[in-house]
Amino acid sequence: MVTMHPDPGTVMEIGRFVRPHLPSLLADQPEEAWSALDGEVADALRRSAAQDVWAALVRHPATAEWVVGFLREGVPPETTPATRGPGTWPGKGAVVAAPRFDCPEGDCSWFRRSPARPVPICRTHGLRLIPSAASSP
Ligand SMILES: [Zn+2]
Repeated sequence: MVTMHPDPGTVMEIGRFVRPHLPSLLADQPEEAWSALDGEVADALRRSAAQDVWAALVRHPATAEWVVGFLREGVPPETTPATRGPGTWPGKGAVVAAPRFDCPEGDCSWFRRSPARPVPICRTHGLRLIPSAASSP
């Protein structure tokens, strides 16, 4: 059970960022499961209903765990292993910037950890995510 209550802006960010990861997070469930959850999150984002984004994501153990990771790291959990390494300076971690991509309609976001990774398409709008003007993690 996730008992944290982050601010609505953070919850909205989490909602945008979790969407591309839902198929893998709920890989052990039928496609309808993540598809329904994705639709629910997208709908809540459209309504700017942070509390509904939160309620949808903490209901599933896999997404709740992802949310906790996001709150701990400040970036999507999957971003961490590839973008944070030992760094070039002894004893210091380094955060390597991964470019951020957003749906032009603002309901889906993603960090590109490697140029080899294809840029996702927003499932709500059928639009390929575009490089963001917002800062990297
Ligand atoms: Zn979209």
